[in-house]
Amino acid sequence: MSPIIYPTTNLKKPSDLVIERGDGIYIFDNKGKKYLEGMAGLWCASLGYNNQEIIDAANAQMSKLSFSHMFGGKTHQVGIDLAEKLSSMVPMKNAKVFFGNSGSDANDTHIKILRYYFNAIGKPQKYKIIARERSYHGVTIASASLTGLPVNHTHFDLPFDALGVLRTDAPHYYRGAQPQESETEFVNRITNNLEQLIIKEGPETIAAFIVEPITGASGVIVPPQGYYEKVQAILAKYDILFWADEVITGFGRTGNDFGSTTMGIKTPDLMTLAKQLSSAYFPISASLVSDDIYQALVEPSNKVGVFGHGFTYTGHPVGCAVALKTLEIYQRDNIFDHAADVGEYMQTKLLTLKDHPLIGEIRGKGMIAAVELVADKKTGLAFSHGEVGNFAMKSCQQLGMITRAIAGSSLAFCPPLIITKPEIDEMIFILQQALDETFIFASKNKYI
Ligand code: PMP
Repeated sequence: MSPIIYPTTNLKKPSDLVIERGDGIYIFDNKGKKYLEGMAGLWCASLGYNNQEIIDAANAQMSKLSFSHMFGGKTHQVGIDLAEKLSSMVPMKNAKVFFGNSGSDANDTHIKILRYYFNAIGKPQKYKIIARERSYHGVTIASASLTGLPVNHTHFDLPFDALGVLRTDAPHYYRGAQPQESETEFVNRITNNLEQLIIKEGPETIAAFIVEPITGASGVIVPPQGYYEKVQAILAKYDILFWADEVITGFGRTGNDFGSTTMGIKTPDLMTLAKQLSSAYFPISASLVSDDIYQALVEPSNKVGVFGHGFTYTGHPVGCAVALKTLEIYQRDNIFDHAADVGEYMQTKLLTLKDHPLIGEIRGKGMIAAVELVADKKTGLAFSHGEVGNFAMKSCQQLGMITRAIAGSSLAFCPPLIITKPEIDEMIFILQQALDETFIFASKNKYI
């Protein structure tokens, strides 16, 4: 056994898959076996592997300036260019950008910016954050407290009480609706719950509501029509900021530039970006805030001297150069349009499997999807364990495709945005075989 403590792993039985190299949408293990990367790594390798232009951009920046920090306002041109580019791309007005290293630390940065902001405008009691059940926002103490999954809380004594995280419903109709409840009734009920929570806690104590426009890691949940319209009206009524965590949904993943656009969300006040920002060639994240928030952050500099927050690697020049090149390729090669077109094809193809006896729900948007496996197709009864989902995931792997079992028994699909329609056919073909093998396994073990 190697001395690695593996992340997000059952430490008693870590996998023995050793990945050696990648090329395009494929990765290869140390025995030479080829896999279609159906998850773009961890929802991040949007331009696939071995992209020579990005490698060249990283090499050139490494040679020119391998490191420079941003403390005290010291800066460099690639950092300035990247911030300007991002500010012009996001559906926010004149956004300002703070760079970090991961989605988790970018969300922590936002929590601190919110506190700093409300302290600066004389509302120090307005610090609580509403987050949803079954959301994923990271694993640091603060971002894990926002995350709404027991696995990230249990045994870590989280959520951390002092953060004041409030929890509201996941907008998942298939799993959350009451018997005979229509989608509209479901939306009315859960948004009413949100409003009641705000009233009970006191709107003057609540800073923001954080959402993944489409929930990623905890199930690929696409909220029903009308949900965000109602949510945003409630937040506006009580003067609560809207925070879009676009770590997965940013950059063409959901059929548009950002998940907020796809879901009809109006101008977020805060946005978190990471993963596809650099197509995973370098760890870099961005916390974006509205100009209004930024202007209020500037004020305390008169009193306390500095905005006392920053990482050694904030604005790492190699990360900035890699991200800039990634964004250039997205635009030059119309990657988001390509992903929208092929994504629609992927959703249609997945839906052809809907009659499979193991499948309860197929859901997604653009180039992100999940197939939920159930113990009873008619009633939607969920498995009480992860055996079937894990078997299906391993079966896909044996057949040459990487997927992930998430939220218990859903298989996730989030291939690189550059995947083509014939490669989607290959993905579906493998999935079909894996589902049939899984059906035999589940029947034999009396799981269905
Ligand atoms: N937010 C969302 C929506 C995510 O999906 C993730 C990672 N899957 C994170 C935050 C945390 O990002 P990281 O793993 O880079 O810390």
